[in-house]
Amino acid sequence: MIRGGERPIFREELIYTPFPMGKGLIRVGSSGGAGGGKGRNFFFDSMGDFAMSGLFGLVSKGDCATTLFYGTDYHSHMGTEYGGMAVLGDRFYRSIHDISQSQFKSKFVDEYKEMKGNMGIGVISDREPQPLIIGSRFGTFAIAMAGLIENREALTQALLQEGQSFGEMTRGGVNSVELVAKLINTGRDLVDGIERMFDQIKGSASILLLNEQGIYAARDRLGRSPLVIGERGADFAVATESCAFLNLGFKLIKYLEPGEIVQLGHDGLKQKMGGKPSSRICAFLWIYTGYPASSYEGISVEVVRENCGRYLAKNDSVQADLVAGVPDSGVGHAIGYAMESGLPYRRPLTKYTPGYGRSYTPPSQEIRDLVATMKLIPIKEVICGNRIVLCEDSIVRGTQLKNYTIKKLWENGAKEIHIRPACPPLMFPCKFALSTRSTSELAARRAIRTIEGKDIEDVSEYLDPQSEKYSKMVDWIRRELGVTTLKYQTLDDMVKAIGLPKEKLCLYCWTGKEGE
Ligand code: SF4
Repeated sequence: MIRGGERPIFREELIYTPFPMGKGLIRVGSSGGAGGGKGRNFFFDSMGDFAMSGLFGLVSKGDCATTLFYGTDYHSHMGTEYGGMAVLGDRFYRSIHDISQSQFKSKFVDEYKEMKGNMGIGVISDREPQPLIIGSRFGTFAIAMAGLIENREALTQALLQEGQSFGEMTRGGVNSVELVAKLINTGRDLVDGIERMFDQIKGSASILLLNEQGIYAARDRLGRSPLVIGERGADFAVATESCAFLNLGFKLIKYLEPGEIVQLGHDGLKQKMGGKPSSRICAFLWIYTGYPASSYEGISVEVVRENCGRYLAKNDSVQADLVAGVPDSGVGHAIGYAMESGLPYRRPLTKYTPGYGRSYTPPSQEIRDLVATMKLIPIKEVICGNRIVLCEDSIVRGTQLKNYTIKKLWENGAKEIHIRPACPPLMFPCKFALSTRSTSELAARRAIRTIEGKDIEDVSEYLDPQSEKYSKMVDWIRRELGVTTLKYQTLDDMVKAIGLPKEKLCLYCWTGKEGE
């Protein structure tokens, strides 16, 4: 279904598959097998090497494809590798594309119109091609997942020893979505299978599973990634990002609880398994990853960002002329800072987005540097002679912030630059969703290595904002960035800004502890 002669990346296959006992057409635009994926898009946003994949599903009285297309597209900020849609009508229609060099929209805009059916699921994925179509003793189903299976290797080996085989290999390993499907297939029924899968995995997995009965939506047991349910007349939708509902006419009716399983069908919404009390939702959803118009657990992303900015301002005594945010995710934090401090919010840097897809991963470092340089345009009239408070969601490596943001402010005559990240120093790479950054790349770890003269295991002293070592670390990062002052948000204030109890949040990035 690729049109207009656009054919270089994908291989088209037509596969006939039993559904339920007859024949169904599956169309696959594949990336050409293992190694087809490109590097992550970590060039435009400071936390761009972190994302968790986004899911959207719909059960409709009429054709679902148009709404499914837009609903899935509204998750484009959550992944940059693969986009996929599966629609079930009289048969399964499925398509998967590598979106690392183009946007989901452009890949699917013609194709979705040929997907006929009133139930479907879509996914923007950062790790594996999906959704997969699985033939099982429970019938044929399509499945998509957001999350990361830490013990993927051990579970794979166990299944191989049992004589099972895997048909979907991605970058030399099994596709986690297929692994999850195989674990589900060991259950007495689909719900029991999902429960068994949850029992066996380490890490996180929220899934959508589409079959003739509807869509089974299951939220990760610790709730690290969200799922919400929306209603539009007789239609039901499920999404990772609630912002996907707003322009499609859905009313948000339910936040799934951790471990909860529901079934969306033509006869309504049925709870198949109640939620679990334990929850560790990713705090980064509010700080960086999530879209400003979304809410998780009933808490608005934009309002949390404003709260973060307010806390930064409350603890600040710096004298400045204006406050600004690093576009885009620093903007909400900066607005909050401005509201609290009374400083004017201004835009010394604007982001030029036309022509640059969020999902575009330039092929070489040289071009990536060039694109990053081109994207933020300084406004000299706002910068020159001013003392600037610059709010940022977080500092990962610090190299982009230094080379493409701070440099431009100095070059355009900034008098002072005061950096205010909305979260504490990042100390540990994410192990539950997805991250390509390694511990040694993190700015805080580089500071510690310099101060200690070597890498150290126990960094607890550096986590305490009252300690001398913490001050030394922050001062090293400040000098490395080349700015007037640098002051991070405290963990307590970040948690207060979100408004959930600490024990309900995943804070592993900052504490290194799974229980905090
Ligand atoms: S480790 Fe960090 S990014 Fe990963 S889920 Fe926890 S808070 Fe989110």
